[in-house]
Amino acid sequence: MSGPRPVRAPRGTELSALGWQQEAALRMLQNNLDPEVAEHPDKLVVYGGTGKAARDWRSFDAMVRTLRTLKQDETMLVQSGRPVGVMQTHEWAPRVLIANSNLVGDWANWEEFRRLEALGLTMYGQMTAGSWIYIGTQGILQGTYETFAAVAAKKFGGTLAGTITLTAGLGGMGGAQPLAVTMNDGVALCIDCDPRAIERRIEHRFLDVRADSLEHALQLAVEARDARRPLSIGLLGNAAELLPRMLAEGAPVDIVTDQTSAHDPLAYLPVGVDFDDMASYAAEKPADFTLRARESMAAHVEAMVGFMDAGAEVFDYGNSIRGEARLAGYARAFDFPGFVPAYIRPLFCEGKGPFRWAALSGEASDIHKTDKAMLELFPQNESLHRWIRMAGERVHFQGLPARICWLGYGERDKAGERFNDMVASGELAAPLAIGRDHLDCGSVASPYRETEAMLDGSDAIADWPLLNAMVNVASGASWVSLHHGGGVGMGRSIHAGQVTVADGTKLAGEKIRRVLTNDPGMGVVRHVDAGYDIAESVAADQGVRVPMAEG
Ligand code: NAD
Repeated sequence: MSGPRPVRAPRGTELSALGWQQEAALRMLQNNLDPEVAEHPDKLVVYGGTGKAARDWRSFDAMVRTLRTLKQDETMLVQSGRPVGVMQTHEWAPRVLIANSNLVGDWANWEEFRRLEALGLTMYGQMTAGSWIYIGTQGILQGTYETFAAVAAKKFGGTLAGTITLTAGLGGMGGAQPLAVTMNDGVALCIDCDPRAIERRIEHRFLDVRADSLEHALQLAVEARDARRPLSIGLLGNAAELLPRMLAEGAPVDIVTDQTSAHDPLAYLPVGVDFDDMASYAAEKPADFTLRARESMAAHVEAMVGFMDAGAEVFDYGNSIRGEARLAGYARAFDFPGFVPAYIRPLFCEGKGPFRWAALSGEASDIHKTDKAMLELFPQNESLHRWIRMAGERVHFQGLPARICWLGYGERDKAGERFNDMVASGELAAPLAIGRDHLDCGSVASPYRETEAMLDGSDAIADWPLLNAMVNVASGASWVSLHHGGGVGMGRSIHAGQVTVADGTKLAGEKIRRVLTNDPGMGVVRHVDAGYDIAESVAADQGVRVPMAEG
């Protein structure tokens, strides 16, 4: 029987598969489970509550075995973390096709999902966990940095200096919040009920210090705020208890958000439950646990609304906490907006989103060389320059060295082609895997997050991510995934992802040009269709064809 063991992707140029496209999928699957990268690798959980890279260890072994022998004209099919077939295709076809956590509409809820999961029939793929392009907390760092920069621009004169941000959740994604706030020169007070999460963020330099108590945390926060000194503070506790208390005591908070794993009520600690008992209680009494978690989320959200009423900038950070609070009967849960309509939608209209790449060589110098190439390629883009410089100085790599930056339509293909040339010339030690989050401009339907409050009311239309996956298959991506329930939970999202490998060949260059044009192109056409002016001008300026506008 195969079972838990430490997994680490091989480095260097020696292949254990029959080509770099397959080798890349193999290394990125292994990298997702590297203990440096994954939150709970022994359970195959990468991040985001229970987001997994493989259904079970037998499936993981079978995928590794199959990828090692997969030919250049074959495609491995993965059904919710288990390899179920190998088909003969052709060299332009993806080497891996992945469908994770998909359920038919009327059955698309956590109860049914868990019943099927217990039968061993499915797994939760989150977004980049089951599609093998998670790169650790950096993956969300730039998006989080941009979001807080947008908050600063909207309300605080362009900087968070002299402000205090209150948030919770220091997990795989939420752990980016403290660094994103301090990169914007603000003070972050971050609550988590898991001491390990706090320690891990300090270890990886995403979080500065841990406070001993709420009073200590507030004292540190106020001192730093008054000195306009960036500082991030971790505080152990339950957010559903601490936020109402802080509100009642008039804590001087300017911005409030949250990234606990609220999308999955079994991953949110209810008030009155010890953190050490959480896992066994959730496993033994899921219905009871869910009820109590939702009640706690209602108290948590009520306090967030209270801070909003008191004048703070408050937003939902894409974890569905408003939806869960409403299920518990809290009527004002949706009084504050989600972060996409509040700050990100204009970027999506330009096809911008979380472009990322990982160095399969394992060498940090490959990423530093690509950083330099990005600065040369986009000399006018000041915020990109600022980000790349800060990331170079402050981001600690987890697993294979990787970089993320938000790029738009007409930019991603240029970067990808340059990277492929750098592999071809030998400037880089080995190929790169180029991918993105599923949280992107044209790849997701998620009415509580990416598609909240669309101009034409098309929030729940899920044809777009399906078209996105098909376009990426047709354009030559190396692997393509189509998931349900990522980010916001079962029944609330459908989303697609792609990864394309720059192996330095001419063929890879052709694929990269198409994929990295058409993939963000989906974001442009999706937003043109919904009636956004910015998307219309991007389409007109960049020659994105929209048949309904051509007549
Ligand atoms: P995670 O499971 O790795 O971490 C969640 C953290 O919340 C854990 O450390 C846990 O201890 C803590 N927590 C749970 N209940 C708590 C409570 N009552 N009080 C204090 N802390 C509590 O998850 P993650 O990957 O960090 O993702 C967090 C959430 O953010 C998820 O819902 C995810 O879907 C969402 N998300 C948002 C974005 C975005 O761009 N906005 C991106 C990815 C994920």
